[in-house]
Amino acid sequence: MSEILEHVKNRDPQEREFHQAVSEVMESVKPVLDRNPIYRKAKIPERLVEPERVVMFRVPWVDDQGNIQVNRGFRIQMNGAIGPYKGGLRFHPSVNLGILKFLAFEQVFKNALTTLPMGGGKGGSDFNPKGKSDNEVMHFCHNFMCELFRHIGADTDVPAGDIGVGAREIGFLFGMYKKLRNEFSGVFTGKGLNWGGSLIRPEATGYGAVYFAAEMLATRSQSLEGKVCLVSGSGNVAQYTVEKLLQMGATPVTLSDSSGYIYDEAGITREKLDFVMQLKNVRRGRIKEYAEKYKTAAYQDADPTADHNPLWDHKADCAFPSATQNEINGKDAANLVKNGVKLVCEGANMPTDPDGVHIFLEHKLLYGPGKAANAGGVSVSGLEMTQNSMRLSWTREEVDQRLKMIMKSIHTSALEAAAAYGQPGNYVVGANIAGFLKVVDAMMDQGVV
Ligand code: NDP
Repeated sequence: MSEILEHVKNRDPQEREFHQAVSEVMESVKPVLDRNPIYRKAKIPERLVEPERVVMFRVPWVDDQGNIQVNRGFRIQMNGAIGPYKGGLRFHPSVNLGILKFLAFEQVFKNALTTLPMGGGKGGSDFNPKGKSDNEVMHFCHNFMCELFRHIGADTDVPAGDIGVGAREIGFLFGMYKKLRNEFSGVFTGKGLNWGGSLIRPEATGYGAVYFAAEMLATRSQSLEGKVCLVSGSGNVAQYTVEKLLQMGATPVTLSDSSGYIYDEAGITREKLDFVMQLKNVRRGRIKEYAEKYKTAAYQDADPTADHNPLWDHKADCAFPSATQNEINGKDAANLVKNGVKLVCEGANMPTDPDGVHIFLEHKLLYGPGKAANAGGVSVSGLEMTQNSMRLSWTREEVDQRLKMIMKSIHTSALEAAAAYGQPGNYVVGANIAGFLKVVDAMMDQGVV
């Protein structure tokens, strides 16, 4: 175990996901540290793993029955060396400090890769929006913002959505921020189109992941045309991944939620995707209903005690994990390889555990880690910030064109960094090194702060 990982584990032994993220990045950048002893002397690894600021707060609110509920709110301001902190808010019962620190840590390097001036942060709450009324979600969001507003701002820290935080939640959060601050500013991204949002922001993470996959395939003179694709999740990222896959002539065949997954051998068509969007974004129902409506599909309940996820055990060419962290373990990765999958492109953050990553690299899959492959979301968030600063809106075509260019540039930087450090084709090492160098050089320029 590296010295820095040991230091992190000793200090916060319960933060497993954070250890996992630190371990992966530090292993990748070891050759950079060896080549540049000045970074170790400047205690760069120790400084990177310590958030610049952590805010943790109580969020009391009243439910529809008049009962008082208490949740916990967080914001991690991880690293602001290259710009204001930027990263989403996650509302999910599993949220804790360790999960948010892993997400904030990943975000630092991801944001650096986008070429835009954004530092890294992340936040959220253990509040579960599932099964809550709009009124309850509004009350929670307003109370959450009653504390968070002190710590964020258009030039300080700009949150966005993540799991459980979509257009509805961002509206409620922004509304309370505006009231408390008495200002209308670009403090959030993912805003509604008629109040400062950017076209293509909802689509950006999914579209970006598919653009990244197309770039990876192009290195082997292939395209997505005709490829059978496994997609997990059925939220924002999964929906727009499926949309772009369809536009590129691929055939997506799976979707999931935390209750189970569907496998539609005939393919998820545009019409079926519209049904999923209505089901998930408007009616807030379960993916099981897909199989009740479309007889070409089979549904299977999730089994949290199983040692593998059956979604990853179907014949396919490509896989797009787009639900949550550690949804692919070593056994799932081995199943993917066995079933002929040649490309894995991560829409979700850290969806593959270290055993799984090892198998993908060993079998020389085209493996795009989340840090690079899902950076399209934060990239268009950066473009939303630019449009807000200029007080104008770009067209759909213009934003999409910029998104494509950014994904291409992330792909190139990752490949070049991997080759420069003797690991050609290894996007994990490449993305970590390229992001790391940009942040670390800024930290060196700014001295010990
Ligand atoms: P959503 O809340 O819109 O959708 C999440 C989906 O994943 C839902 O289908 C949800 O099912 C499922 N899911 C969540 N947690 C679990 C779990 N523990 N087990 C099984 N299924 C689960 O979130 P997003 O689509 O925005 O985010 C998905 C992933 O993409 C996350 O890892 C996020 O960090 C990452 N990401 C998102 C970006 C964005 O722009 N939104 C940007 C970059 C990365 P259910 O409804 O049953 O909970």
